[in-house]
Amino acid sequence: LPARLSAIPAHWAARAPDAPALHEGGRSWTYAQLQHSVESAAQLLRDLQVRAGDRLMVVGENGALQVALIFAAASIDAWIVNVNARLSAREIDTIAEHSGARRLLFLAGASPEAAAHAARRGAAGAVTVDGMGELLAGALNDAAIAEACVPGNEQVAALIYTTGTTGQSKGVMLTHRNLLFIAAVSSTLRGLTRSDRAYGVLPISHVYGLASVALGTLYAGAALYLVPRFSVDGLLSALKDDGLTIVQGVPAMYAKLLQTLGGAGTPLPTRLRFAYAGGSPLAPSLKHEVEKLLGTALHNGYGMTESAPTISQTRLDAPRHDSSVGTPIPGVEVRVVDVAGTDVAPGEAGELWIRGPNVMAGYYREPAMTAATMRDGGWLNTGDMARQDPDGALFIVGRTKELIIRSGFNVYPLEVETALNAHPSVVQSAVVGRTVADGNEDVIAYVELDPRQPASVAQLQAWLAQTLSPYKCPSAIIVMDALPAAATGKILKGQLRQMAQNAR
Ligand code: ATP
Ligand code: MG
Repeated sequence: LPARLSAIPAHWAARAPDAPALHEGGRSWTYAQLQHSVESAAQLLRDLQVRAGDRLMVVGENGALQVALIFAAASIDAWIVNVNARLSAREIDTIAEHSGARRLLFLAGASPEAAAHAARRGAAGAVTVDGMGELLAGALNDAAIAEACVPGNEQVAALIYTTGTTGQSKGVMLTHRNLLFIAAVSSTLRGLTRSDRAYGVLPISHVYGLASVALGTLYAGAALYLVPRFSVDGLLSALKDDGLTIVQGVPAMYAKLLQTLGGAGTPLPTRLRFAYAGGSPLAPSLKHEVEKLLGTALHNGYGMTESAPTISQTRLDAPRHDSSVGTPIPGVEVRVVDVAGTDVAPGEAGELWIRGPNVMAGYYREPAMTAATMRDGGWLNTGDMARQDPDGALFIVGRTKELIIRSGFNVYPLEVETALNAHPSVVQSAVVGRTVADGNEDVIAYVELDPRQPASVAQLQAWLAQTLSPYKCPSAIIVMDALPAAATGKILKGQLRQMAQNAR
């Protein structure tokens, strides 16, 4: 692996300067043009007094400028902190404060939200990256401390804040090695070549969009089609007009696609080689329907911010028809353990620990949290419960923290969600625990329904009663127009847990 992420555009600029690298809103950039803009952006960062070891926070949405800034920051050893412009003012301010950013940059041209944050924080200075466009620079934070630089590729490249599903969002320090390893594995396991065209809709502010999609695509010298936000129309026209060969998304995105097109029998005409889902559980029913619609395999991958993100994925030569998240990627070891940290019997469920070149350097400024997550010998406790088949295939059973204990019985929300999602009316669901008395919990389900296939709560209850033991059946099912979701499409369960608690 090279020492720095910035080796990626430099490599292809030398080898295949005229090959297309980026596309965004009708514009495109070759690798030579991308490299030119990266060098211009690096000079700009120096002019803005961003030093090695500084955090550089970039507020924006997917676009070419965002990609150029990642490589530019990497080339001067600054830590990139990409933050999605759709976060609230309070979330942006919290991250700016926690990361101790030296500068905030706002990609205001392509995002009204980024422009609003810039105005709110008094960023007025427009600066230009050659060949790409303008952005707004916030004031210099003189008090920002530059972190020490580390030799080789153990230097931190990116600070990425987790979704906050189980509680407070954490700043994950990912090194050049972490990200380059995932870029290389993603490109190899997908068999990417320079003629591939990948859809870049997953937010680059999160690790799936950054490492697996953006860096994975560019590592192979393929072309990345950047899109700031997901829409079904956008995806359909990109499939048709841009000849995409790879689409990577989250289950919620594919659920929306199906909901819009209905259970159309005929596959869409596309040039897709395959599609990918990851980031949250993929129901086998959804997977099956999407495969019919796209006329190609929908692969599943599992990971987390702390592992840059990929831990396992299903293999191109071994598509699956069940809910497996695939086998561990090469170079990553897994263990399934009990509460004492002892390996469980083969095939049994337990907490999943992983080890490999993708494991984070730690949580920034949270040594206690880091110590609670990292175990002796370099193992990372994922906080997920899993089981592994004899052939190595992993199945996620649920999150340890989400386990609901109802009258002494264990209920994993994922099992209830899977049963709900299999109902034809349910677009998405989320199940949370509600504390009642004496630490006892109730099971509460939130669902988003397809308006064209209405179902009553009583019908959903009856459906669940057919497949789940009574103690797993929710005591309430609440229908919402849309479940609260992050920019990545991930359901914000923390909000739902609070709603469930307040509704008592
Ligand atoms: P926080 O750590 O702040 O509570 P989060 O864990 O949701 O938030 P991410 O790092 O974005 O933040 O998500 C990683 C988690 O997503 C994993 O630990 C796992 O629970 C879940 N996950 C990811 N991919 C899959 C998948 N393919 N199937 C099932 N669950 C998945
Ligand atoms: Mg997590």
